[in-house]
Amino acid sequence: MLLGALFLLFPWGKGFVVDWIKPFGTIFINSLKLIAIPLIIASLIKGVSDLNDIRQLSKMGTRTIGIYIITTIVAISLGLLLVNTVKPGRFIAESTRTEMMQSFSSEADTRISKAAETQEQGPLQALIDIIPENIVAAASSNGNMLQIIFFVVFFGIGMILIEPEKAKPVKAFFDGLNEVILKMIDVIMLAAPYGVFALLATLMVEAPSADVFIALGAYALTVIAGLLILLFLFYPTVVKIFTGLSFKQFLNGISPAQLLAFSTSSSAATLPVTMERVEEHLGVEKDVVAFVCPVGATINMDGTSLYQGIAAVFIAQVFGNDLTFTDQLVIVLTATLASIGTAAVPGAGILMLVIVLESIGVNPAGIALIFAVDRPLDMIRTAVNVTSDATVALLVGKSLGKLKEPKVKNWNDHYKPVD
Ligand code: ASP
Repeated sequence: MLLGALFLLFPWGKGFVVDWIKPFGTIFINSLKLIAIPLIIASLIKGVSDLNDIRQLSKMGTRTIGIYIITTIVAISLGLLLVNTVKPGRFIAESTRTEMMQSFSSEADTRISKAAETQEQGPLQALIDIIPENIVAAASSNGNMLQIIFFVVFFGIGMILIEPEKAKPVKAFFDGLNEVILKMIDVIMLAAPYGVFALLATLMVEAPSADVFIALGAYALTVIAGLLILLFLFYPTVVKIFTGLSFKQFLNGISPAQLLAFSTSSSAATLPVTMERVEEHLGVEKDVVAFVCPVGATINMDGTSLYQGIAAVFIAQVFGNDLTFTDQLVIVLTATLASIGTAAVPGAGILMLVIVLESIGVNPAGIALIFAVDRPLDMIRTAVNVTSDATVALLVGKSLGKLKEPKVKNWNDHYKPVD
């Protein structure tokens, strides 16, 4: 990571980095994404069918969703508290505002029209979208994670309901498949240092100039402060209180997933590693991990919601819109929903911000103001998103008596070369 970051000093090397280093970052991310759907299928089928009855499943489901919503609301409230105290909008001069609006207006327009498509749909569209009409089509895109989860949970329920004798071979098959896939992740992770180096080097040569950072410094720092409070104070404390795991154990266990989330800006690409860390290094049982983490990667985005709260109020401050207390409550509601609807890919959060802005009557073109610093903030908020999934997996695991001593496996534990 540090070696990659050094490329900030060599902006003239951009052509070289883009041609010769960037592809390795892309290959690394692609190989992680490649694993996501097979991993969810294998581990969730195994997880659900391991539960003895449907009641256990619904208990896990309601707890997971309930805790996810609570952590999201905490995150937005923290964001609103910070942004209303710091008021970063007052630092933006009129001239900076005009300049930013001009230079990023076309990008802003693209996001606004995309967000409009989402908004035109009926209120139950999100529910309809969870049920795929064809499983092969659903599995053809990583963006359809919830559809896959729906099918797989349904399949698992079918397995619980049939005669155990008949379900046994199916289960054995998915058990084996699950092991193979976990091993593939171990192998991919051997390349992680090189992949992360390539990703960081690319980000550095493509980074915007320092001037923009200074202009938006107060805003960016407010978001970063909120994200760091969540990362290093809120989650470790919650974990400590409810599971007894120390700060060090928790952060050591989850840090590789956090670093990967930071380098890829995608919770979906990080999912395989998040699952591996939560299971093998933090000790949550597979059936809980297999359900809580993929669902979390799709719907639980505390970092994104905190950022959406701060960004919405910041843009309103720059435009001179005074937000009432009711407006702030509307932000809590829409940012919760928007973060649920945010895809787990880079830059998705700013798109959904459009919806938050519209709900409080602020001109959505205002996203042009914050475009320049969005990527670094995206990196940190993705690390938060992933940490929050891990935290909730620990809490749900603990509450169901499924938190054990971690059993760390090495990548080549069972490998014995044939002479
Ligand atoms: N990149 C974030 C994620 O994958 C989503 C966002 O843009 O906030 O978790």
